[in-house]
Amino acid sequence: MNQAPPTDPKTSPRANAALISLVRNSELDGIISSMRYMEKSFNAKFQYPWIFFNDVPFTTEFKEKTQAETNAPCTYELIPREHWDVPEWIDQARMEEAFLQMASDGVQHATQLSYHKMCRWYSGFFFRHPALDKYKYYWRVEPDVKFFCDIEYDVFQFMAENNKTYGFTINIYDDPKSIPTLWPTTTDFLESHPEYALGSHENSYHWLTDSDARPAITKIANGYSTCHFWSNFEVGDLDFWRSKTYTDYFNHLDQTGNFFYERWGDAPVHSVALGLFAPNEQIHWFRDIGYQHSVFSNCPDSDKCHGCQANKLTPLAYWLNGEDCRVNWFKQVCEVSRNKS
Ligand code: GDP
Ligand code: MN
Repeated sequence: MNQAPPTDPKTSPRANAALISLVRNSELDGIISSMRYMEKSFNAKFQYPWIFFNDVPFTTEFKEKTQAETNAPCTYELIPREHWDVPEWIDQARMEEAFLQMASDGVQHATQLSYHKMCRWYSGFFFRHPALDKYKYYWRVEPDVKFFCDIEYDVFQFMAENNKTYGFTINIYDDPKSIPTLWPTTTDFLESHPEYALGSHENSYHWLTDSDARPAITKIANGYSTCHFWSNFEVGDLDFWRSKTYTDYFNHLDQTGNFFYERWGDAPVHSVALGLFAPNEQIHWFRDIGYQHSVFSNCPDSDKCHGCQANKLTPLAYWLNGEDCRVNWFKQVCEVSRNKS
């Protein structure tokens, strides 16, 4: 059982944590909207700092208008070029050809170079930004997301007191055509580093490879179910990403160039790493945090939540479209607790 975290900000210390957001100047309205939901739901009470990241400098307007939304301190950080730019060893012609092929296969954002860079940055670089050096926990926030519930406890202290590595709200399938070689590249890595993977009483391997409900997806993804924690919402322990295990894993992925020759997302990359290298019980579903990004949401059945509308797709269409991995996740959680006992 998880311990109840503190609820009174006056009597409890803050955790070592920040709210973080990669955002463009052009998304000012969207991030202000997200901030209003976040402040109302959680942060007006707990006052964690906001840190905004950008590949170009933030405008004065962006800084003034975002700071005006919170009493907590905001800082504005530029991403170092070497964390963002396409590495020089990437073959441009091969990349452009791959973009067109993926676009004709219907892969979203396939030809948008900045999207590939964003996915690579969130996969391997955000936690190396010097502005995060002093922090242990982060909560990722995107423009135009919604938080619906009154969160009456300190989410970061919950993570710390219960030794959680990662918290999610939404758990769905991915487009396997964006990551056809992510899983084979991962199994190569595990073969050369057998010491890194956790045993079956701890890992989430079945969730990562469960093909029962969606065999066609797993086939295109060469063995990966594509189930992933939707990373536009993340509450996590930065030390997991800073670890030698994850650093070696990311470098192994990155040297394939497939953040560009394919369209590997940071969500499947994070999820595969968590499923292999973080104990299952250190991964937490925040069922009590009402959240929405585009058409998907996590809506608790609670009078502390206001206006949360279940997924715009009906539950049946949601399942039929192969979107929902929650059942696979619950199966995994039960299996791990059985293996332990
Ligand atoms: P989606 O949720 O997968 O559709 O992707 P988004 O377009 O929402 O991008 C994910 C996050 O990265 C959002 O917070 C965006 O604001 C941010 N983002 C994406 N591309 C860029 C970029 O080129 N520059 C900056 N500064 N932020 C970006
Ligand atoms: Mn988004």
